[in-house]
Amino acid sequence: MSLIVSSNTLAVSCYAKLNLTFSILGLLPDGYHAVDTLYQSINLEDRLRLTFDQNDNTINFDQANSKAPPGFPFDNKNIIVNSIKKYLQKIDTTVGVTIAIEKDIPMAAGLAGGSSDAAGALLAMNTYFENKLSTQELSSLAIRIGADVPFCLHGGSMRGVSKGEILSLVPHQTEIHFLVAKPSDFSLSTPFVFKAYDEQDKSNHPKLDTDAACHALSSGNIKKMASYLGNDFEPVVFAMYPPLKLVCDDMRDNDAMAAHLTGSGPSVYGIFHDFISCEVALASLNAKFPDFSTWICSSAGRSVALMEPIE
Ligand code: ATP
Repeated sequence: MSLIVSSNTLAVSCYAKLNLTFSILGLLPDGYHAVDTLYQSINLEDRLRLTFDQNDNTINFDQANSKAPPGFPFDNKNIIVNSIKKYLQKIDTTVGVTIAIEKDIPMAAGLAGGSSDAAGALLAMNTYFENKLSTQELSSLAIRIGADVPFCLHGGSMRGVSKGEILSLVPHQTEIHFLVAKPSDFSLSTPFVFKAYDEQDKSNHPKLDTDAACHALSSGNIKKMASYLGNDFEPVVFAMYPPLKLVCDDMRDNDAMAAHLTGSGPSVYGIFHDFISCEVALASLNAKFPDFSTWICSSAGRSVALMEPIE
């Protein structure tokens, strides 16, 4: 499929994210968990195309021109539909929207595929309606859709606190090389992992130093940053699916500066000095862990971007 864009369509790339650090700090007054996380966009992407019809008011998928894995919700449960509806409610208007998607970010993987699609839909809607909502208004709408959606509207390298929606930029010029791996037949829902985490004894958990990780990243010292990375979900998620720890160990044996779980998993990532070392580690992983899907990725400076029209 090719996402050809015409005058009444907009296409947008939606990048995945990694959580280079992920600390759980306690509970917020509304019962959600307070987190402290260093987000990083990566160039693993979904592509959306929205086609608008002024004479309609329904929101549908163009399944024939979409490519998505089994289980992808081509209905009202999709976060893209929810985002479009919330946007239209907010600006108090209607329009028909047909959605086509090429989905390459695996689902329920800790890579924010759905959140990035949601942010991409908000960007396309706001572009179509000539930036009717300000950046601030779009962010306020985004947090009502999901905790990672505000980050996905911006992307790059950012520290997120509270639910992840209070964001600060971590500026740097360095390209970072990642190997990402996900068990092909095992996914996890974020609420399920938080519940398992809440039931665990956490007295021996080491505390992550996200300040130090952000500072090292800002100064371009990726090796130093790597020494501060981690994820509070690792003990609980590695116990649910023990090969994840073995995959991280294998990445470290193949010169990863660090290897950890991202978000609530089950995807894990390793950080490498360059593309060649990613390829060496990839060959090792593919030989030893055939049940994992793997991707070589680089850091990206943003999370959603309008695609150039194809004439
Ligand atoms: P996060 O890292 O933000 O916690 P995730 O990567 O773990 O997210 P998603 O890929 O966003 O998880 O999917 C979570 C669930 O949301 C899926 O199981 C799926 O049923 C549902 N969902 C709804 N819309 C989408 C979408 N556009 N893309 C992916 N999943 C979607």
